[in-house]
Amino acid sequence: MKSSTHILAAGYITMAASLKMNMRLDETFVVLAMSSAGSILPDIDKKGSKISEKNLVAGISGSLLRIFTSHRGFTHTIVGAGLISILITLAINLLPLNLDNNINSIIGMSLFFGMLSHIILDSLNPKGVMLIWPLSRKRFNLMNIKTGSISEFIFRMILCFGLIIFAIYFLMEKGMFNL
Ligand SMILES: [Zn+2]
Repeated sequence: MKSSTHILAAGYITMAASLKMNMRLDETFVVLAMSSAGSILPDIDKKGSKISEKNLVAGISGSLLRIFTSHRGFTHTIVGAGLISILITLAINLLPLNLDNNINSIIGMSLFFGMLSHIILDSLNPKGVMLIWPLSRKRFNLMNIKTGSISEFIFRMILCFGLIIFAIYFLMEKGMFNL
């Protein structure tokens, strides 16, 4: 899937989390930022991907990662997503930002759910993903939507349409918009 398709998932995650946990605006923005990053992060294992060319840190991390894993390997597993989310959250904690525990858990969970959404969307591609690694290296693919194909374009349009409907519901629930 293209990164533009993946990033749409962050919109769903943000609005669902904000509604479910009755989040403040600043917390909602943290979810949006971290789930957006998480939604494209797994492709850091692919040379030339948007995320691996984002900045120097991403570039170096991606190059190092590619020594140990191939595309759609470790970063595209549920265990990998969990470990990477924990590591990044710990690294953010080392910065002098004085974040409270609530924001820390929001950062970790948003990253994880963003990465999880990427893995689920990639499972709709013929190559599939190793969902239950390290228990098995079996690749699961739920559909046959090829990257950059017309079927991905249609799928992306459906996601966009759903997101607009969800956004209207979200704004109504937050009391910002009344029909
Ligand atoms: Zn991917």
